Amino acid sequence: MQGPLTGAVAPRARSFWIHTLGCPKNEVDSQKLAGRLRAGGLEAAEKPGEADLIVVNTCAFIEAARAESIETIIELSDLRRDGARLAVTGCLAERNGEELAEALPEVDLVAGFGAELTPALAAAPVAFLRRQELPDFDLLELPRPPASAPWAYVKVAEGCDRRCGFCAIPSFRGPQRSRALASVLEEVDRLDVSEVVLVAQDLASYGGDRSSASRLEHDRILDLVGAVAARVDWVRLLYLYPSSLTDELVDAVVATGVPYFDLSLQHVSRPLLRRMRRFGERGRITERIGRIRSVAPEAALRSSFILGYPGETEQDHDELLSFIEEAELDWAGFFTFSREAGTYADGLTEELQVPEALALERLAECSELQDAITARRRASLVGAELTVLVDGDGRGRTYREAPEIDGIVRLAGAGAGAAPGSFVTARCVGSEGPDLLAEVEGGRP
Ligand code: SF4
Repeated sequence: MQGPLTGAVAPRARSFWIHTLGCPKNEVDSQKLAGRLRAGGLEAAEKPGEADLIVVNTCAFIEAARAESIETIIELSDLRRDGARLAVTGCLAERNGEELAEALPEVDLVAGFGAELTPALAAAPVAFLRRQELPDFDLLELPRPPASAPWAYVKVAEGCDRRCGFCAIPSFRGPQRSRALASVLEEVDRLDVSEVVLVAQDLASYGGDRSSASRLEHDRILDLVGAVAARVDWVRLLYLYPSSLTDELVDAVVATGVPYFDLSLQHVSRPLLRRMRRFGERGRITERIGRIRSVAPEAALRSSFILGYPGETEQDHDELLSFIEEAELDWAGFFTFSREAGTYADGLTEELQVPEALALERLAECSELQDAITARRRASLVGAELTVLVDGDGRGRTYREAPEIDGIVRLAGAGAGAAPGSFVTARCVGSEGPDLLAEVEGGRP
């Protein structure tokens, strides 16, 4: 994802360009970095080649993400104009900062989360800023520019207290630190959008880390959902750890009018989940899904799964396939296991490793099965009346589609040009894979 985050270049003003890689959480960080750079007197450039400062906000989640981050750094370095500086921040900078600074001399500044990026513009830029050397401020509380879409991500916590076997995030993002509810609500009010998408590494645990002394009574997920829902038309929750999905949380989500559940399942086989150092098993997961559908039969469900985790047997894989078939989720993402240094899984024996070709074969099998289910579920909506939030350009989404993650609704008819941010009523007249086609009938009912 990339783009000027706001505005145009004023004559002779120093300008910046931010290129963001990775997940929605990183996108929020980039918006806050943009807010900070603007507060420091810089303006958004229209192209990377015009900027005085190019910032690459990297991702280090898996090997492929790290490779993409490095390729992007090199590409943007080639694109920059004479005298422009290049700064690298984000997960890869945090995790492999020193190596990066040494291996890529074209980079002027490698900086951990929350570092000032303007030193890159100095005559003799700093090579690497460690977290310990950072000024004392919290990246989470930085202002962000007004949203350019009718929806926006809002990050409510940073870090994670869990220790999933495959995941290196807690090792470099640290333990969970939740924002105060008041700060989140202030940001929601400033954004002035129709839809807020709440994100955190482990969203359902929001507020659990706030000590009893500082914890306000309302700094918990249920209150967060209720308070945000009272301010915006739609609130959507991403990354819910399944064992934290209580009945109360299910009810709170359904009550917002956006019955969308993004369950971070990763697998369903009990022995494999234990080796992943995660809770849960198929029976319990199925029960949770049943509970959601019993209170909201119209609920949309998404999840993601890892294929080829060390020790995954044919039996584990068959169990996952049968679960996918039975659960009929609306959306699912599949990823092959990536061995990450410093994780529990990295220390598992060689005999347990699943050959990459086999992991890819399993991924293809799961994807094929899920694609058919997704297409079927989408086709079942033909004829239905939909409430669509217009994103722009004859495009929109119902509560069933998370922005930039799931399918979209293509709008036709006289009202298809409705303003971004408005809600229209549309009749679904067709489906194409993950997308729907709908004829606009009028404004919001
Ligand atoms: S819940 Fe697990 S996978 Fe998610 S960030 Fe925390 S440790 Fe990583």
